[in-house]
Amino acid sequence: MSGQKIVILGGGESGVGAALLAQAKGFDVFLSDRGALKPEYRATLQAAGIPFEEGQHTEERILAATEVVKSPGIPATVPLVQKLRAQGTPVISEIEFAARYTRATLIGITGSNGKTTTTLLAYHLLKTAGLNVGLAGNIGDSFAAQVITDNFDYYVLELSSFQLDDMYQTHLDVMVLLNITPDHLDRYNYSFQNYVDSKFRILQNARPQDTFIYFVESQPITDELAKRQPDVLHLPISLKATPSPGGYVIDGQLIARNKTASFAISQSDTPLRGPHNALNMLAAILVAQSVGIPNDALEAGLKTFQNAAHRLELAGTINGVQFINDSKATNVDSVFYALSSMDAPTIWIAGGQDKGNDYSQLDEQVHKKVKALICLGVDNHKLVEYFGGMVPLIYETQDITDAIMKGLEWGNPGDVVLLSPACASFDLFKNYEDRGNQFKAAVRKMYDA
Ligand code: ADP
Repeated sequence: MSGQKIVILGGGESGVGAALLAQAKGFDVFLSDRGALKPEYRATLQAAGIPFEEGQHTEERILAATEVVKSPGIPATVPLVQKLRAQGTPVISEIEFAARYTRATLIGITGSNGKTTTTLLAYHLLKTAGLNVGLAGNIGDSFAAQVITDNFDYYVLELSSFQLDDMYQTHLDVMVLLNITPDHLDRYNYSFQNYVDSKFRILQNARPQDTFIYFVESQPITDELAKRQPDVLHLPISLKATPSPGGYVIDGQLIARNKTASFAISQSDTPLRGPHNALNMLAAILVAQSVGIPNDALEAGLKTFQNAAHRLELAGTINGVQFINDSKATNVDSVFYALSSMDAPTIWIAGGQDKGNDYSQLDEQVHKKVKALICLGVDNHKLVEYFGGMVPLIYETQDITDAIMKGLEWGNPGDVVLLSPACASFDLFKNYEDRGNQFKAAVRKMYDA
């Protein structure tokens, strides 16, 4: 590949992984990041002898690239990317670049919500069954870095819409589209259709023998499918109908069938609660069935799964009141499912940076379950305005410990205090992990007090 100049834009996990792979494949590589690199990534590049720059983009060098690998965090609208496109330089994602160098079976999982849970579970099911499987993508581990040695027969890839946007040729054997609800519209010219199109890129290279798993009650998905009619094995999942082949829930039982296999398990025998997690499990089970995992391994995998933190995670129980950390719920749809998962009177902690939220989707759940609302963040007024007439008790604060103390004061034994913000966290916290960790730490402190 000598003479072929690959420029990597962005020096995070995926960018550094792509740089290492490009170097291993003999390209002339240069990495450019407009900000500062994390020390560990800087050290990796230095150790590998890969040239890079920080704090700037040297346009001349970047525009001379044969191909550019762009990190998902960089919008397509930045002038440099537009210049590259205008002069015809291919701009691709790290996933697209890495996929060229593996023959493994690729499983791609996307959706507005549930990607991480479903990706981790699908990976866990394949691994428990003894398959040689890698985990990569938006989940936080570079795909490209793993493809350098490429020891895996399967990869489970979590794909964000930003990654899909820069994918063109990648062929996925199994595709999962969990749901589509408005999110990230600032990156899509405020057009929901653009965002839907981005999600549907997951299907762009599908072949008839491939498998497509999707939630049929997600209206934007079914509307779009009616227009496209992709030629691929369809495995719908549903909370209302009983598709077969496909997956559904009936009387607390999860049923999943493809053309050759049939599996059932009671949700109460699994560690994940709520209708959204029933869907995530069905999707992961259908993925596992499509690569031939037998029922006993599926059952073992489902029973031993541990989800990532900050997703309906029990932070502790004080005076009989459960404190649940759902800090990852940064949009209204995920809060809808969090509230749907509650079977006790709920004191709901919400708020942060409002993303133009429309709360009407929550009306029924809030009426049924929420006995008090604690608003935590810069945009409290929006919550107070909307829920003022609906929720009997409302409290406003800018302090997470204060919010928890109020929850404890209002909570009776058997109640739940649920942090499920529906908003971004950047007003009071570094990110959603920081918000969830501070919540857990404050609960723990109260516990010890
Ligand atoms: P993502 O990686 O897509 O952000 P996560 O699995 O991290 O998804 O979950 C994010 C939030 O969305 C959590 O609060 C979780 O409770 C909620 N959630 C998980 N799965 C779903 C789903 N299928 N539909 C709606 N909300 C979901």
